[in-house]
Amino acid sequence: MTCSTCRREIAQYSNYCYFCGARQTDSVVRPDGPKRLTRSSTDKKIAGVCGGIAEYFHADPGVLRILVALLTIATGCIFGIIAYIVAWVVLPLGRADVTAVSQAASVPPAP
Ligand SMILES: [Zn+2]
Repeated sequence: MTCSTCRREIAQYSNYCYFCGARQTDSVVRPDGPKRLTRSSTDKKIAGVCGGIAEYFHADPGVLRILVALLTIATGCIFGIIAYIVAWVVLPLGRADVTAVSQAASVPPAP
């Protein structure tokens, strides 16, 4: 991998660059590391909380949004809204799926 600050080649999944000491953001998401609950950066209606939870559990985000909306209404709205705002603040924004972005970029524009 390449250092995001000084552009020198460093070992894969390094947390810090040995040349300039810059923290490497790419090392946070390891393919073999623990799965992290994040907000979705690609599948979002408000802040990507439901999309991120659906990605984490490999569930349908539309069904999850309906369930969250029904639970929020059934519990008097306040708890659901506060829980959503807390999740919005606490959960980090997930990285965009690189393969999805590259596939979208390779599709030719419609005539
Ligand atoms: Zn560096």
